Amino acid sequence: MEPYEENELYIYNSLSGRKEKFTTLVPGRVGMYVCGPTVYSNVHLGNCRTFISFDMVFRYLSFLGYKVRYVRNITDAGHLENDADQGEDKIAKKARLEALEPMEIVQRYTDDFHCVLRLLGNRIPSIEPTATGHIIEQIGITQDILDKGYAYVSNGSVYFDVEKYNREHPSGAGSYGELSGRNIDELLEGTRALDGQNEKRSPRDFALWKKASPYHIMHWSSPWGEGFPGWHMECSAMSTKYLGETFDIHGGGMDLKFPHHECEIAQNQVHSHSRGARYWMHANMLTLNGRRMSKSTGNILNPRELFSGENDILKKAFPPAVVRFFIMQAHYRSVLDFSSDALEAAEKGYYRLMEAIDKLPGLPVSDESTFDVKQWRKKCYAAMNDDFNTPVLLSHIFEAVGEINKAAAGQAAFASDDKELLCDTIKGFVYEVMGIENIEKSGDGDITDGLIKILIEQRLQAREERNWALSDQIRDRLAALGISLKDGRDGTTYSIER
Ligand code: AMP
Ligand code: ZN
Repeated sequence: MEPYEENELYIYNSLSGRKEKFTTLVPGRVGMYVCGPTVYSNVHLGNCRTFISFDMVFRYLSFLGYKVRYVRNITDAGHLENDADQGEDKIAKKARLEALEPMEIVQRYTDDFHCVLRLLGNRIPSIEPTATGHIIEQIGITQDILDKGYAYVSNGSVYFDVEKYNREHPSGAGSYGELSGRNIDELLEGTRALDGQNEKRSPRDFALWKKASPYHIMHWSSPWGEGFPGWHMECSAMSTKYLGETFDIHGGGMDLKFPHHECEIAQNQVHSHSRGARYWMHANMLTLNGRRMSKSTGNILNPRELFSGENDILKKAFPPAVVRFFIMQAHYRSVLDFSSDALEAAEKGYYRLMEAIDKLPGLPVSDESTFDVKQWRKKCYAAMNDDFNTPVLLSHIFEAVGEINKAAAGQAAFASDDKELLCDTIKGFVYEVMGIENIEKSGDGDITDGLIKILIEQRLQAREERNWALSDQIRDRLAALGISLKDGRDGTTYSIER
């Protein structure tokens, strides 16, 4: 493949099904919206993969010098249990099961989401709006779609009229099915089995606003009575409120293409004659045992279990930076299968890279370089400019790792300016663009590890002497430093929260 120019970024646009040259609406600025989590349970590693992928996109665009407004929402109402507008609201259901206020559920899992993403090295988005904070905007767009004749009220709910929309947008830009590549008959097949509601004129229609039953605890007043917004409406309302009716990038996981994004486009098209985003990006799924990681099937891994090693499928604990490195080894549009062995292989690569970065400043310089650093740097940009190809970028980075190791063994050399350029480039791409932190190696010979083990032994001795005060003090003081001890059948293990 032809390497792309340093400043020409190509992005795979799910709308066209091909890589397109990236241009921005406003020179030097990017508006990007990414669908955030539904905060009714702990975030799983699959969710994290999607958010890490878009964090990398956010980072690279910023690295190129764009001023990026990155909006990622929190879905705290309106996401029903299935996509055919049926079932309970996921948050309301959890609140009912745990006898808590819905906002307690939202707070708990929003905090967990933020904490895990911070550990995994994600930057904070520019704006993080919530669905419940934008009810007025959602009612406004729903009313507008009704006024324009593309929706109807039925028994206190408002539904989007897909048949009518489809008649008037039969093909091309904004047609229903353009993004997911499904035709309208397939869409009907997909929804019929699930649909048991006779309120809709057609099973293809989707809810813009739902009437709240007397048992539904999250509801708001609207021109159509007490109810709550349909899930797709929040993203139309929040993306356009903060980024304008037309903006640059909209992202989410592959599973959101249909119906969520398809419906969002139809809503936007009626409301503002625009699909919303110009580039629609979709990150592929993380799988576990070959099956999609998903809350609904329980086939999930909590990232905290990875960091502590507390899950039977893991042979050991893995630091967040290694998890991030593992994710960056795959292209964001490829499926990535998780296994403990794959993570162990990634860990070896990670430490090889970090050791080389640490060695770099101390390398002697010579008059001439044996490695073409400028050409190599271009290849790094070309990889990222080719639809954010992090695995290819990493292969170039490891080419440089090989050269650094050769130079350390006296078999290669760098001129002073090349060494500086190499150092800046590697650090820029590894730390800033991929967000992979350089952490201290923890292993048997490591000082931190050794010191913690001494304290664990001291605590064990204190316990044997029934000196509970001392044993608790050791545990609590380590905990205050973010080091938690866990007593198990095979002794005491520890994990470090960074
Ligand atoms: P949810 O909280 O279910 O709304 O999902 C939040 C984000 O995680 C969405 O963008 C999903 O597409 C994404 N997601 C869910 N499962 C996976 C998975 N197994 N791999 C990658 N992304 C996922
Ligand atoms: Zn969304």
